[in-house]
Amino acid sequence: MGYTLAMEKYDVGIVGGGIVGLATALTLKQRHPDLDLCVVETEGRVASHQTGRNSGVLHSGIYYKPGSSKANHCRLGKQFMEDFCDEHQVDWDRCGKVVVATHASEVERLDRIQE
Ligand SMILES: Cc1cc2nc3c(=O)[nH]c(=O)nc-3n(C[C@H](O)[C@H](O)[C@H](O)COP(=O)(O)OP(=O)(O)OC[C@H]3O[C@@H](n4cnc5c(N)ncnc54)[C@H](O)[C@@H]3O)c2cc1C
Repeated sequence: MGYTLAMEKYDVGIVGGGIVGLATALTLKQRHPDLDLCVVETEGRVASHQTGRNSGVLHSGIYYKPGSSKANHCRLGKQFMEDFCDEHQVDWDRCGKVVVATHASEVERLDRIQE
């Protein structure tokens, strides 16, 4: 099934130019260079919603269960993003993170996270 945009026809149409839409488009083009693809964005520029207004953190996955799909995807995605930034000269910084227990009952959990 194809997509028609104005008078143009595409193999794939992606709605939304946030990080999910753009990463999907990039990956599809890398895997299938001949694919005729379009990204449709309702705003005047890409990344003008959540993607352009978030905290800018590459999450390390420390809060997810070790070995879980969520933890693995988080680490893999972080690696992809670091590689992408290096390849495209986008500055990033491994500044670390301070995780504190604000109550004695949280100390045990902190030990688990450190583990
Ligand atoms: C305050 C805040 C802080 C966050 N901090 C972090 C962080 O530090 N690290 C992190 O990894 N994640 C963070 N997140 C989460 C992360 O930003 C989002 O998960 C991610 O940006 C979602 O990307 P998206 O492409 O799905 O959505 P969006 O970036 O919102 O993109 C959706 C796009 O679709 C377009 N659109 C919508 N409807 C249509 C339509 N009908 N036609 C055409 N275009 C349309 C919109 O204009 C928009 O550009 C944060 C989120 C918030 C809200």
